[in-house]
Amino acid sequence: MTRMPLVAGNWKMNFDHLEATYFVQKLAWLLRDAKFDYSRCELALMPTFTSLRSIQVLVEADNLKIRYGAQTVSVTSQGAFTGDVSADMLAQLGCTYVIVGHSERRKYHPEDDANIVDQVRAVLAAGMQPILCVGESYEERRQGIELEFAVGQVKDVTRDLSEEEAAKLIVAYEPVWAVGTGMVATPDVAQDAASAIRAHIRSAFSDRTAEDLRILYGGSVSSKNAQELIGQPDVDGFLIGGAALDVEELARIARLTLKATTRG
Ligand code: PEP
Repeated sequence: MTRMPLVAGNWKMNFDHLEATYFVQKLAWLLRDAKFDYSRCELALMPTFTSLRSIQVLVEADNLKIRYGAQTVSVTSQGAFTGDVSADMLAQLGCTYVIVGHSERRKYHPEDDANIVDQVRAVLAAGMQPILCVGESYEERRQGIELEFAVGQVKDVTRDLSEEEAAKLIVAYEPVWAVGTGMVATPDVAQDAASAIRAHIRSAFSDRTAEDLRILYGGSVSSKNAQELIGQPDVDGFLIGGAALDVEELARIARLTLKATTRG
């Protein structure tokens, strides 16, 4: 596989900045002991906004290869938007990635498709990479429209992007019924969705952009199911919630991902 695998932990609203710092230190130690090759598998953490500066200081001071990013972003660049954080502010903190359109943001905050498109644009304009979350609910799967739905969400966001912008996108296929439920998608389900998303990018842009696009799977990933999932040809890594709160478990998943994707 030519695409660099990415293991990204979404901490959601967990860990204060002291806990976050300790976690990153411990993760770095565990992976150093395991001789983890960051040049063959990227590892990223998405803490709350309040931990970003502490993580930046630690990563820079210890020259760590762990990347980090944010869980959402404002669509505006500055001004009277109480509580918002702009893309430029995140870029200044050394963020590489920003999660956009996570199902919990779509559910608990007014993040509709238009807002999500604007977030993607804001992230790209600030020189970071959006991790766009898409995926069907149980109801859409029951109706048999799951692929149409997930691909439709990708279409809505990519419609007005240039090829250059689309090339910076990362898509996370996160079926809503699998997020935080313990019900992981089968490898076939993850592969079918990832393949359909890649096919759409191929038809909307080019072979090259489709082949380079990284598509993550997210939804109850653990060290018990990671190996089979990453064995799928169109699955390029993971967006991980619950299991990313356990440092040993996250290190195990990262090692399994690296091992599976560098075989042969
Ligand atoms: C997520 O929050 O993106 C997620 C996939 O959560 P979990 O791994 O807990 O299902």
